[in-house]
Amino acid sequence: MPNITGLTLGGISWTPEFVTAINQDDCIGCGRCYKVCPRDVLDLIEKVTDDDDEGDDDGDASVMTLKNAKDCIGCGACNRVCPKKCYSYAPSPALA
Ligand code: SF4
Ligand code: SF4
Repeated sequence: MPNITGLTLGGISWTPEFVTAINQDDCIGCGRCYKVCPRDVLDLIEKVTDDDDEGDDDGDASVMTLKNAKDCIGCGACNRVCPKKCYSYAPSPALA
């Protein structure tokens, strides 16, 4: 199946690259990507941490996650604002 392609206003073909992953090890939970995403693809969730080694969740950190990856339009805005460059993208055929 061919990858999804589009046209610019000027009629030039382009191939959007859709979010495939967020590097949660590098994510600092700043929320910048969430604010710019036009499609409600992302969600900031609590990150389970145990920095004090007490065997429980310290509850003091957040991390970005893909809530609704199938709504991504491949605009790339999320990585442009990400200070840690957490995002990976790839072209894709249409998903069912
Ligand atoms: S590429 Fe665009 S639509 Fe997709 S998650 Fe990032 S900001 Fe949202
Ligand atoms: S912009 Fe980057 S570091 Fe900030 S919450 Fe999004 S993925 Fe994490």
